[in-house]
Amino acid sequence: MSLDIQKIRKDFPILNQQIYKKPLVYFDNGATTQKPQLVIDEEVKIYSEENSNIHRGVHYLSEQLTQRYEDARKVVRKFINAKHDHEVIFTSGTTESINTIAFSFGEKYVNEGDEIIISTLEHHANIVPWQILCERKNAVLKIIPINENGELILEEYEKLISSKTKIVAVNHVSNALGTINDIKRIIEIAHKRDIPVLIDGAQSVQHGNVDVKELDCDFYVFSGHKIYGPNGIGVLYGKEKWLNEMPPFMTGGEMIKKVSFEKTTFNELPLKFEAGTPNYVAAIGLAKAIEYIQNVGLKNIAEYEKELLDYATKKLESIEGLKIIGTAQNKISIISFILEDIHNYDAGMVIDKMGIAVRTGHHCAEPLMDSLNIEGTIRASFSFYNTKEEINSLYDALLTVKQMFG
Ligand code: PLP
Repeated sequence: MSLDIQKIRKDFPILNQQIYKKPLVYFDNGATTQKPQLVIDEEVKIYSEENSNIHRGVHYLSEQLTQRYEDARKVVRKFINAKHDHEVIFTSGTTESINTIAFSFGEKYVNEGDEIIISTLEHHANIVPWQILCERKNAVLKIIPINENGELILEEYEKLISSKTKIVAVNHVSNALGTINDIKRIIEIAHKRDIPVLIDGAQSVQHGNVDVKELDCDFYVFSGHKIYGPNGIGVLYGKEKWLNEMPPFMTGGEMIKKVSFEKTTFNELPLKFEAGTPNYVAAIGLAKAIEYIQNVGLKNIAEYEKELLDYATKKLESIEGLKIIGTAQNKISIISFILEDIHNYDAGMVIDKMGIAVRTGHHCAEPLMDSLNIEGTIRASFSFYNTKEEINSLYDALLTVKQMFG
């Protein structure tokens, strides 16, 4: 089935506007995606008609909204095909999810001299929490290297694993280069040694089906705002067996069973990891966003975005002096590139004046940029609401940049 992109675009009100008197071309979907009207409407409806703190009241509004929050959890569970609802923890986003795991898993299982494996491709959100843990526990961080295409070298990964390895944490898709990592293989290799694996799915869930049961990953995390949902909501999926053993990260209301001044006992999953008032409005909005992309069809989305990627790659490659950074065989609809002798920020400023939103800089992946020996890139990240005509506009803008600075 082919998608009716013009019809889809009408679902996203923000796309229908001019920036500097030019039609907005939004190619910064890797940073955050835009929201369909039905997600915006859902939030307005909750605040206008249904708002009440959840889990705490016996009154009508509270009970109704608690039910809707728990229904949202079920939508997420089905979406990623988790075994149990309580394996889905709502957080504020990928960053909080990873921090929660790094702290709690680390507290329970990581000791002096132990090792944690991450990769060169990681976003800072999947580096810094592990670094802090290593400092706290005197553990060692090991890094999977990449080849010249920006793909993880799995033979080197295997060599990094030792009897001291406690967890492997890698992204499914690199936000900076678009590389899709062979996480199935990465998980299999770790599991042969009984080592759990965390997958940072911030750049993958919005592009195709994710099945945590099939992958057999131990943890999978993502952010609502990158999957057409609201800000301030994210997901931490964890296998029950780990979440039951791990101590809570944040403490306070909701996550307790019984509190006295002498001692506190903790609640069952998932509440053990949801201290305080959760962002129930955003959780319900996230469920709406998931239902929306399921209606569009994740297979359709993946196919169309691949078409956009191939088109853009061909078009941009034809520009003299433009070098694509990240040429993995398996890529998501992200293109990072640099222009010979032109600084990314200069290019970004000119592109912006054409009404085109791209991102420039290190994309929160400074160690990756260091390993590539570059300061940063210009990144265009496409969504299923983008068009080939918009890619043509980027192409034209890049020719203008070259004229101005070349
Ligand atoms: N991991 C990856 C791969 C990302 O691309 C991002 C954001 O760009 C994050 C983690 C952090 O996500 P958030 O800022 O929503 O917590």
